[in-house]
Amino acid sequence: MCIQHEKPTYRRIEIQLPTTPPPGVPPLPPVIYFDVDTRFTPTETTRIRNLIVLNIGTWNQHFQEKEFSPYLSQLAMCTQKYAIRNLTPDWSRGPAITSGTEAANLAMNTLTQRFIENGTGKADVAKIDYRIPEPGERSTIRAKTAKRQFKVPLSVTINPQAIADQTISDLNLRGSLFHAWFHRCGFDHPEDVYTTYFIGEAPMCVMRGFQDKNPNVPDTVLTQFFD
Ligand SMILES: [Zn+2]
Repeated sequence: MCIQHEKPTYRRIEIQLPTTPPPGVPPLPPVIYFDVDTRFTPTETTRIRNLIVLNIGTWNQHFQEKEFSPYLSQLAMCTQKYAIRNLTPDWSRGPAITSGTEAANLAMNTLTQRFIENGTGKADVAKIDYRIPEPGERSTIRAKTAKRQFKVPLSVTINPQAIADQTISDLNLRGSLFHAWFHRCGFDHPEDVYTTYFIGEAPMCVMRGFQDKNPNVPDTVLTQFFD
């Protein structure tokens, strides 16, 4: 019998942010911190770290691309084509967001906020929790939808079996991580419904390398990695 309710222990990892902030981004702390459940193996922890680094790269790329005509990132242009629902984060009290472009910009700006809060100690250190799904349950990377705008740690819960599974590509896991991070930015969707929702379409754009959807490939090929 294994002990189910033992308190998890964590090992802190540091991940560097770009020393020069991307254009239009305020000064950044040098590193952000994640407390990783010690049940993840060193190999799994390395893969998780790599996914975070690659997603920070996509976040950086968004701001770099915005510098040049048409002043929209590939992420924003792709999201604009497909996302029409839940474009406004739950915490927003301003006017509803009406375009995928605007939602993508806000999501990336909110991620900037999350990184700054993390690296300056204004939010709790993000936790990477460990959870093996129940039999019959599907899970990759999950996170709770943030109900407030500020001081939200980028905490997620990861299925170690998905991280150990080399048949799941980094790109698909990165989409799963972005989906979870967008929950931490306040975006949401009805259970198991992803198509047309910002939090489904924007990560799918990343997973397709910002290419248009192929009508012969159902969204479920990608959304199976979303919680
Ligand atoms: Zn979700």
